[in-house]
Amino acid sequence: MTDNSINSNRRNFLKLSLGIVPTLLLLKPQNLFAQDVLVKEGEVFQYKAKGPADKTCKLCIHYDSLKKGEKTVAGCKAADCRLIPGKYVCAEGSCQLWAKKV
Ligand code: SF4
Repeated sequence: MTDNSINSNRRNFLKLSLGIVPTLLLLKPQNLFAQDVLVKEGEVFQYKAKGPADKTCKLCIHYDSLKKGEKTVAGCKAADCRLIPGKYVCAEGSCQLWAKKV
């Protein structure tokens, strides 16, 4: 190997590194492993995946279908609950903190 080819390889490696490192810094570890997770029944506020028809999550003021939208998670239509960060609740679910949407 000549000095020129070693220098060229070193330059290419440095260019590649300069591109990869900032990209890796932008990726947060929690985003790399983010999953759509439903709240389990009874996990918080006596949550149930199927609540009474007049007190479902989709009728609750804390149900936030606008933030990330509704999606199907583990077989139920779900969205964020403002009181339970990081997990989804079923639109047909309910809990003790239900409050009528105004
Ligand atoms: S507060 Fe309870 S009822 Fe209201 S959206 Fe959250 S989990 Fe559902």
